[in-house]
Amino acid sequence: MAKSWYGRELQIGVLGGGQLGRMLIQAANSLDIQLHMLDPDPNAPCAHIAYSFESGSLTDYQTVLNFGKNKDLLTVEIENVNTDALRELEKQGVQVYPQPHILELIRDKGLQKQFYLDHQIPTAPFVFYNPGDTIPYDFPYVHKLRTGGYDGKGVQIIKNEAQLVSSFNEPSIIEECVPFEKELSVIVARNKNGQIKSFGLVECEFNPEANLVEFLFSPADVNPNIEKKAQQIASDLIEKLEMVGLLAVELFLTNDGELLVNEIAPRPHNSGHHTIEIARCSQFEQHLRAILNLPLGETQFHSAGAMLNLIGEKGHEGPVLYQGLETILNIPGVHPHLYGKSHTKPFRKMGHVTISADHMDEVRKKAELVKANIKVISKN
Ligand code: ADP
Repeated sequence: MAKSWYGRELQIGVLGGGQLGRMLIQAANSLDIQLHMLDPDPNAPCAHIAYSFESGSLTDYQTVLNFGKNKDLLTVEIENVNTDALRELEKQGVQVYPQPHILELIRDKGLQKQFYLDHQIPTAPFVFYNPGDTIPYDFPYVHKLRTGGYDGKGVQIIKNEAQLVSSFNEPSIIEECVPFEKELSVIVARNKNGQIKSFGLVECEFNPEANLVEFLFSPADVNPNIEKKAQQIASDLIEKLEMVGLLAVELFLTNDGELLVNEIAPRPHNSGHHTIEIARCSQFEQHLRAILNLPLGETQFHSAGAMLNLIGEKGHEGPVLYQGLETILNIPGVHPHLYGKSHTKPFRKMGHVTISADHMDEVRKKAELVKANIKVISKN
């Protein structure tokens, strides 16, 4: 990038116009950066707030090529995009961050795991699997589709012979089932100059029924050495990938105190939403700084925080209503982020709430209060 940098002079395109894009726009506004977005859904969360918005397929070669050809820089808020078009655009001089080969590596869980193995990144033992292959692990083991899975869809824990019937019939991987104490996440950024910064460690609590992250707490309740080690693994990983942008690294803390990388995402991530309120620089601003090769922002947390996903209630489908919003707005340190989706359905991610306070005890109390008082329901 030129030394006298001014975001408005650059045509920046984003593939994907969902909630992550929406929060990226909020950070872009502060730097006077104008984002052009592409998303298949004409009513996507960014549709009415982007500097410009086009509706079209992210996986279609020609659509991505046309969208990108008059841009200086392209980035993504989702991995599943047409990387052949991105490679062609790179050849034509468009900067693409994260780089297309990183997107290809990350959207295939098999290639991802092989990369960890080849580059001494700690991860659970695994094998590639095609239907009919023998499985070298005892029950329980974890069966994962190589591509197309998200939010736990595409992952099965196979506990016994009977469950084999519902096992996937596509190219996949089989992993040893890791007995873990906690699921953690750390977000790291790297710019083109090679500067790297990690945010603090986050602890994820899942809703067992929806299999979605329900609560997330940061800083995580672990020994400080674990946090340092996780940040080191994340820095090491982004450096070895030679990636430019933001990388979310999901880890297991095993019952033996070992850290294993589960999976990574090359973009702003659900586990970093709280950085808007509790870090000096949010993950969204950091992503923009990284892809524009600007100095990275300070990642220290100035408060303790939690994030609660707002997920559509079971049995509710239709125009959305956030029941209890006023009640939670009365609690100090509570900030809702609604994603602008007009319709709810069971388990749909509709928004999140960040809760911050000086101490984690206080955060946990308020987080429970928020959870008890807010519900995403339909009007009819
Ligand atoms: P997704 O990409 O759909 O989020 P993940 O690979 O993160 O899928 O797996 C979903 C969940 O399954 C994880 O959050 C974890 O709870 C569980 N899981 C995944 N891999 C393992 C493993 N090797 N051992 C134990 N549990 C696992």
